[in-house]
Amino acid sequence: MPLSEHKRVVIVTGGARGLGRSIALKFGKTGDRVVVNYVSHGQDAAAVVDEILRAGGEAVSCKADVRIAEEVRTMIDETTRRWGSLDILVNNAGITKDRLMLRMPEREWDSVLDTNLTGAFHCIRAASRIMSNQREGHIVNISSIVGVQGREGQASYAASKAGLIGLTKAAAKELGGFNIKVNAVLPGYLQTEMGEKVSDAILERALHENALNRVSDLREVAGFIYHLSLMSNVSGQIFNVDSRIL
Ligand code: NDP
Repeated sequence: MPLSEHKRVVIVTGGARGLGRSIALKFGKTGDRVVVNYVSHGQDAAAVVDEILRAGGEAVSCKADVRIAEEVRTMIDETTRRWGSLDILVNNAGITKDRLMLRMPEREWDSVLDTNLTGAFHCIRAASRIMSNQREGHIVNISSIVGVQGREGQASYAASKAGLIGLTKAAAKELGGFNIKVNAVLPGYLQTEMGEKVSDAILERALHENALNRVSDLREVAGFIYHLSLMSNVSGQIFNVDSRIL
């Protein structure tokens, strides 16, 4: 197939809902082949796939728990068996278990770190095996400003998202020789199921901290990630996609 006809293959973890859904739809409706990963919301994943198919695109859903390395490997194997390559990985899957540290049971701490950080590691490791053979690939990790600033009641989330920034930089250095780009995107506050869990006080503070005094827009963040995936000379960078000024 001539290079110009090559359709990129994209995996979006947690692509069934929230930001992941918007990212999957953006890639899928722009001509890329999308794997909509999910862990529990199969019907939502199927609806995203349907919407892409109805728009004339190509997509499949794939159940895999990013915390489990074997399930991630299987998802990546099935993807390359189906479409022959893996060009873009968006590590979007994430959870919060907000609680003051003094009251935080270890299992809650572990579940946040296992999903947000170790899950991304599993996906990067499995994807980079394919991408390094291709000598081409782009990985986008969805982090958060909370990983840079910290936030009371969100120690596990902050630690996981800070870890993801370190992982992004280390992976960019390790994988750059294979022409694999690794970047992190920090969306601002998003009105998703996760976003709706934060208190009014935190939402108020987010608005106040934004120079534009408004929260982020899902489609705008998805559009930014899409454009980033087209860039060939940018790696190891951390992008804030709102108007909070650090
Ligand atoms: P949602 O709670 O709406 O969606 C979370 C997604 O993660 C779901 O699709 C869920 O899958 C998936 N997921 C959770 N655990 C796993 C797992 N073990 N394996 C595979 N998938 C999993 O969150 P958002 O859309 O708001 O968040 C998306 C990303 O953006 C997260 O990384 C979050 O930290 C980050 N972010 C969010 C902000 C916000 O204000 N909302 C701000 C900054 C960053 P399923 O649907 O199957 O349950």
